Amino acid sequence: MNLTGKTALVTGSTSGIGLGIALKLAEAGANLVLNGFGDNEAAVAQVSQHGGNVIHHPADVSRAEEIEALFEVIGQTFGAVDILVNNAGIQHVAPVEAFPVERWDQIIAINLTSAFHTTRLALPGMRARNWGRIVNIASAHGLVASANKSAYVAAKHGLVGLTKSVALETATTGITCNALCPGWVLTPLVQQQIDSRAQASGNAEQARHDLLAEKQPSLEFVEPAQLGELTLFLCSEAASQVRGAAWSMDGGWTAQ
Ligand code: NAD
Repeated sequence: MNLTGKTALVTGSTSGIGLGIALKLAEAGANLVLNGFGDNEAAVAQVSQHGGNVIHHPADVSRAEEIEALFEVIGQTFGAVDILVNNAGIQHVAPVEAFPVERWDQIIAINLTSAFHTTRLALPGMRARNWGRIVNIASAHGLVASANKSAYVAAKHGLVGLTKSVALETATTGITCNALCPGWVLTPLVQQQIDSRAQASGNAEQARHDLLAEKQPSLEFVEPAQLGELTLFLCSEAASQVRGAAWSMDGGWTAQ
């Protein structure tokens, strides 16, 4: 895979899955636009060890005007986005009648509406070059539900729907749009859930095992690098007819 000369934007790529995908795209030679909060410098340093040029932009993807500013910087720096990975995401666990309204709005904005904005801004350039790859990081929760995650489940199902719609709108072009639906990946997002279970039970190892055993028949976490490899495949010409797919990598979660 040679992505030299291509520019990839990965939202929420300062940690976890986004960083794993950014590393794989950089290894293949792409220029990388990293986004997200936390230890930006460490993420840039890690990704810069490979391939092309790397910048970080701190846009809050829940805000349309910040996404527009991000695309202006990308235009000035690299020209346009060839590969768009909509990965930024958060979640909140609470029953629907106790779900804080502002938290609902924030989860929909970050996990779903941000992908609408980045897609509408990336598509004109992709159409002009008749090549583009859009990869939306949904979830097993984009295909099946769990209790007490209504906003997350709704946002991820919505993201799968957006993926299919965009795939149809671009079906006769060189642009593809697909979703990845990971099961548990051991990132800060999942570590928080293990920590809160461990606080209740006092046994971190048991909490980790229980989390997997409830959903993921393989009893192993998916690795960010494995999702990076799948993203690389979707960027290849071999995948040019993979369109509007919601691709599971979940240790058997949604096979049950
Ligand atoms: P993570 O918490 O490690 O990373 C989330 C990233 O998003 C970070 O870089 C963070 O700074 C960024 N971010 C958060 N809010 C943002 C905002 N408003 N604007 C810009 N960036 C923002 O989480 P992760 O586990 O790597 O999750 C990445 C994606 O994968 C999410 O969409 C998540 O829903 C999805 N996912 C995760 C799992 C899992 O088991 N970890 C499973 C399925 C899907």
